[in-house]
Amino acid sequence: MIGAHGLIVRRARLGGRTGLWDLGIRAGRIAAIETTIGSRAAREIDADGRLVAPTYVNGHVHLDKCHLGDSMRPNKTNSFQECLEITWEHKRSYTVSDIVERASRAIEEGILNGTTVFRVFADVDTIGGLRPLEGILALREKWKGIVQIHAVNFPQEAIIRDPGSLELMEEGMRIGADVVGGLPWHERLDEDARRHIDLCFELAKKYDKDVHMLVDDTDNPNSRSLEYLAVKTLREGFQGRVAASHCGALAAYDEVHAQKVMALVKEAGISIATNPHISLVAQGRYDREPIRRGVTRVKQLWRMGVNVFSGQDDVNDPYYPFGRNDQQEVASYVCHSCHMTYPDEIEAAFGFVTTNAARALRLRDYGLEVGCRADFNILAAASIRHVLRLQQPPRCVVRDGKVLAVNELKREILLS
Ligand SMILES: [Zn+2]
Repeated sequence: MIGAHGLIVRRARLGGRTGLWDLGIRAGRIAAIETTIGSRAAREIDADGRLVAPTYVNGHVHLDKCHLGDSMRPNKTNSFQECLEITWEHKRSYTVSDIVERASRAIEEGILNGTTVFRVFADVDTIGGLRPLEGILALREKWKGIVQIHAVNFPQEAIIRDPGSLELMEEGMRIGADVVGGLPWHERLDEDARRHIDLCFELAKKYDKDVHMLVDDTDNPNSRSLEYLAVKTLREGFQGRVAASHCGALAAYDEVHAQKVMALVKEAGISIATNPHISLVAQGRYDREPIRRGVTRVKQLWRMGVNVFSGQDDVNDPYYPFGRNDQQEVASYVCHSCHMTYPDEIEAAFGFVTTNAARALRLRDYGLEVGCRADFNILAAASIRHVLRLQQPPRCVVRDGKVLAVNELKREILLS
């Protein structure tokens, strides 16, 4: 006898509950969580004791430039400056269809790795104009109803030092950007960085959008835009609506100043994104031994109750030659780069790519409770630690109560 559920997942292990559970899904929502659901469903999946968790959220990724790594010229000087220049060469001739094609490959990789929400940064500047954002808006349209894409209007060349970019950002909001981006630390003067933040808030207020800036992405302890961002957030009443990525300089401040800034960040309800695999290779370049890790004060921020989350950032582009758009890999990098290897720390790192990222993006009805959206992964192991240890993709990715992707891994030792 087929009951009311369209899908039942049997014998799932769930975070925060002991034993095995059946999940009943109806109309794209989790309708029941019971030890045994008596009725049958048209489709049933046996999780066989594996962990079921909400789908991953990638809260920081650049998909306008992703996969340029396959067509770009080599970086001859091994320098960050040349990373920028190579990107400029491509950015001048981007087309919408080229961006959608490359970005869709990254989205497909992300789905297979269990991610269904992406906050995508699109460069807006006087080199590429609005073309990167137009590409990401077309990407959002193409994947509508399959995954959620939030487009960030991102001034990659800064605002004060790139005259004309502010007008482009304004136009970017008009054509449909979801989030106001920012890159204050890339301005030439502290006063320009502050003006940059002010201008971004003017746009955010005018279009009633959240703010996500790349902040103090440097080892330089004199880079101090995070504290101004926090104070601005408080002054404008934007608590809970602002995210800041990288914040590497915070790790370089002396303890007294760092404590002051972290307290401000907490008071302002700013979510901090750490993308550790990028920071590990981008920072510490001027250090002789000991070489810094380049990540922000992740453990301190998390312990004091700041909402920390983690994203992929770059995928196969001029800045980063790797990247699988895999949030399990990202969480594993967090564990390694931030000394988070004890049980509650591993759980926290997993939260950085699930619940904390969802909180930063203000997703509604996210989670594994009755009434939440039926967006979840049947993972490849029974615990978070083993999911991150084995690094195998989810067995099954469910979105809106329907199976969106499956991964089958065949491994065999042949002795004869
Ligand atoms: Zn980034």
